[in-house]
Amino acid sequence: MLIELEELQRQAESELKKSKTEEELLAIKTKYLGRKGILTKLLRGLGDIEPEERPQVGNRCNEIKATLTAAIENALKARTSLKKKEVLLRDRIDVTLPGRRIRFGREHPVASVCKDICDIFAALGFSAVQGPEIELDYYNFEALNIPKDHPARDMQDTFYVEDNIVLRTHTSPVQIRVMEKQRPPIRILSPGRVYRPDSDISHTPMFHQIEGLLVDKGVTFGDLKGVLTLFLKQMFGGDTALRFRPSFFPFTEPSAEVDIKCVMCRGAGCRVCSQSGWLEILGSGMVDPEVFKNVNYDPEEFSGFAFGLGLERIAMLKYGISDIRLFFENDWRFLEQF
Ligand SMILES: [Zn+2]
Repeated sequence: MLIELEELQRQAESELKKSKTEEELLAIKTKYLGRKGILTKLLRGLGDIEPEERPQVGNRCNEIKATLTAAIENALKARTSLKKKEVLLRDRIDVTLPGRRIRFGREHPVASVCKDICDIFAALGFSAVQGPEIELDYYNFEALNIPKDHPARDMQDTFYVEDNIVLRTHTSPVQIRVMEKQRPPIRILSPGRVYRPDSDISHTPMFHQIEGLLVDKGVTFGDLKGVLTLFLKQMFGGDTALRFRPSFFPFTEPSAEVDIKCVMCRGAGCRVCSQSGWLEILGSGMVDPEVFKNVNYDPEEFSGFAFGLGLERIAMLKYGISDIRLFFENDWRFLEQF
């Protein structure tokens, strides 16, 4: 009997050595020490063996039980602490690694030019208004004195959504929408996106314009000159030279284009100004009486002027950018410079 017990202990210990997982350890515990375990049964069956052998066998059984219990508990503890170590190792944070840099957003150069212009005109009492980008032919063309067969329609290629609906080709329709709802005096600016099917280094199918309109009693061409001169000197510097050239727009009469002395070459002539020393900056003019009639203003009573300019063009000149498409690629290496 005692020899069998020694064999039993050896067997249990060798199983214990081989076991790797917590489940295996618990299975050994059940096998030997559980309620129906081998040792438990032996202890319960002590009454069946010879009385003289009983104390010795009983003692040996209890010794083995105690040794085995301790060995299993130790193995389980070791297993648990190993698991903890594994988790700690796996989730280790290396605090010496360099941090990830957060890139800060910048104001887009077109947005910042728009803001500058709005600020200058806000000081003169102009407020900014918005209009739809998908526009009726009537507002985009007809109400601005550009009827269907008018040759001026050829000046602007147009994206048509339907026969009578276009992607607005300029921000001028906002003038009409405002004048339809409001009586003079009017002082507005309308910045926004406009669309024309055109694409090269100085044209994109979508670009930004800002349009200004002032209507009141007794407004003259002198007011137009005064306001635009003040604006351009604030925008490009007090010593900026400018000139007004006669031009044609269907919705203004008379019309003038405004040039400033080239900001790149100071008038000496360069690639940007095509060697002329001047840069075309904006279009302007006195509101055509035909336009006033379309919004039921009496041209005898009211007069006014309007002007419009391309924001990308201003941003290109201000920051010395040679390709307009850079504005729309959203490459942070480009945007980060402003
Ligand atoms: Zn130049």
